Amino acid sequence: MTIDLSRPKLSVVVPAFNEAGGIAAFLEQLFAVLSDCCVDFEVWVIDDGSSDATWVRLCTEQSRYPQLHGLRFTRNFGKEAAILAGLRHARGDAVIVMDADGQHPPGLLPDLLKPWQSGCAKIVAAKKKRRNNDGWRARFNAHIFNKLMKSLTGLDLADASDFRLLDRLVVDTLLAFPEKVRFFRGMTVWTGFVTAQIDFEVPPRLVGESQWSTVQLTRFAITAMTAYSAKPLSLIFRFGLLGMLAAGLLLLQALYSWLAGTAISGWTSLTFILLLFGSANMLGIGVLGIYLAQLFDEIKRRPEFLVRETLGDVSNVAEPH
Ligand code: UDP
Ligand code: MG
Repeated sequence: MTIDLSRPKLSVVVPAFNEAGGIAAFLEQLFAVLSDCCVDFEVWVIDDGSSDATWVRLCTEQSRYPQLHGLRFTRNFGKEAAILAGLRHARGDAVIVMDADGQHPPGLLPDLLKPWQSGCAKIVAAKKKRRNNDGWRARFNAHIFNKLMKSLTGLDLADASDFRLLDRLVVDTLLAFPEKVRFFRGMTVWTGFVTAQIDFEVPPRLVGESQWSTVQLTRFAITAMTAYSAKPLSLIFRFGLLGMLAAGLLLLQALYSWLAGTAISGWTSLTFILLLFGSANMLGIGVLGIYLAQLFDEIKRRPEFLVRETLGDVSNVAEPH
């Protein structure tokens, strides 16, 4: 086997949105750890359309770290798009994806590398051990999301994070997926490659607050679920069947009260039924609408992101499918 020296062994992909405050400290930690790891490496920071000075900071930092490369999106396309862009440019035999806010500690990189280097695993996933720094609402949301995801798709994502190492084989597999609507965490689990797991405690952010609004999180959860499962569609059908059964019973009751001469009463139940079935209909149509919108997005085949500026060596890029 010939070893291609132009290919670094390890690529680190970091999505960053409005991280100007902490990015320099994060890169300092990251490069210190990477230099100690003794592997040939490169770092890709994807500025996901930040409105602060993230890109300017990156450009300044690049003079300190020649292994630093960057992409700047024209606008905020979302973390999934940023990860995808990083994976397309990464040249490493292994790629580690991690957050820019210090919540995925660079100190864990050697632990992520070990199972891969020993050939035990194609994916090494870091699992969140404690969520002490999250409020009860974040923990509750995560719990509901993971439970729903498991029952709808069968993917067990409890405490899973995007902090993971992927072998080149896994990266190429993911890049070959033709779909536009992406959910990185779920897709890597879906591939089924041998996975090792390490636990980590999530530290607080270096600076600032989480960039996810409740609306964004809800949208993300709906996309993730509908992209990975058609179960909500079959649920509508079951809802419909149940509704028909209930309607049949109510019809019998109405006939009975008509025969017994007590038919006038029942305005309340009538209103109730109308509201119930009306809303069930709306719900069903809504779910269909979500799938239709997703099909629409897939069919348009628009690029997942647009790049405004680049930093470092961007000659290597996997062609989108
Ligand atoms: N991020 C991004 N695009 C976005 C939102 C977030 O690239 O639209 C990045 C962010 O800069 C960070 C990572 O994704 O590096 C995780 O974001 P955040 O810390 O806000 O989320 P949480 O830690 O709550 O999952
Ligand atoms: Mg974070």
